[in-house]
Amino acid sequence: MVTLPPGAGTGPLLDVRGLRTYFPVRGGLLHRVVAQVRAVDDVSFTLDQGTTLGLVGESGCGKSTLGRTVLRLRPATAGQILFDGTDLARLSPRELEPWRRRMQLVFQDPYASLSPRRTVGQTLREPLDHHGIGTPTSRRDRVAELLDVVGLSPAVLDRYPHEFSGGQRQRVGIARALAVDPDLIVADEPVSALDVSVQSQVLNLIRRLQVERGIAFLFISHDLAVVQHVSDQVGVMYLGRLVELGPARRVYSTPRHPYTQALLAAVPRVEGSPADRVLLQGEVPSPLRPPPGCAFHARCPRVMEVCRHEAPVLKDVDGPGAGHRVACHLY
Ligand code: SF4
Repeated sequence: MVTLPPGAGTGPLLDVRGLRTYFPVRGGLLHRVVAQVRAVDDVSFTLDQGTTLGLVGESGCGKSTLGRTVLRLRPATAGQILFDGTDLARLSPRELEPWRRRMQLVFQDPYASLSPRRTVGQTLREPLDHHGIGTPTSRRDRVAELLDVVGLSPAVLDRYPHEFSGGQRQRVGIARALAVDPDLIVADEPVSALDVSVQSQVLNLIRRLQVERGIAFLFISHDLAVVQHVSDQVGVMYLGRLVELGPARRVYSTPRHPYTQALLAAVPRVEGSPADRVLLQGEVPSPLRPPPGCAFHARCPRVMEVCRHEAPVLKDVDGPGAGHRVACHLY
């Protein structure tokens, strides 16, 4: 039985400190570890109840691994995941079980994440049964209520996933995450598989649920316009590290890191993105062999000599109270 420590609930809901997720690469006759893929490398951030941190970056930057490590779906190599004051990274699978109910995951592909052999009613009821929530009668009412919350008719209870559109399936995925009344939802590319016309409906649903239910979201997306729509804070990841972190308004209006500037310049529909364009060239290097110094230096239009051998650390720009932090030798 896990008990909350004194003071739990008074700080941020989630306080991630120095988190690292490395994957060993084995080779040779003895199958020894010959290298480490640094998927998440020394990442720190906080997330308050009822707010959204949007995580952006190119494919392979580590944002999905970070989300899964926070939920302990992947083991952390080092660092702390303080959830309501308790370090989840140190808990055994058994100790972790009561916390699982408070943290849920919404997947990118709603079709793949729903069992084709289960009706929507069975899918939504499963977490209630698993966690022993309510009575058999109240669970049926709860399932109908969940469908209503996400804008689906209770009449669809006995239908199967293939009978729904992509947007409707994602609504079911969100309803399943809501079933256990979570405090935190990690949403991993939740609208990237949907048509643009449906995306805004699902994003509005997520925003509404956050306001009405006080849920915190870790919202992962490669699409900066989508992240801007839902986020209070934004973190920009590059090769496993956060290179810029701050209030969404500031990051979008005055991006400081050359990588953020390049990402924003590539999205003309983002309001307030700077007029002077920084074009992003080249590929993200392999996390197996990250470059020395600043990992972005081979692609950076503003690279300096120091960038090639000294890794920059996150530090405050715009003053200490602004909460805007950048890892770049320009600041
Ligand atoms: Fe560019 Fe240097 Fe800043 Fe890295 S540290 S983003 S290479 S200016």
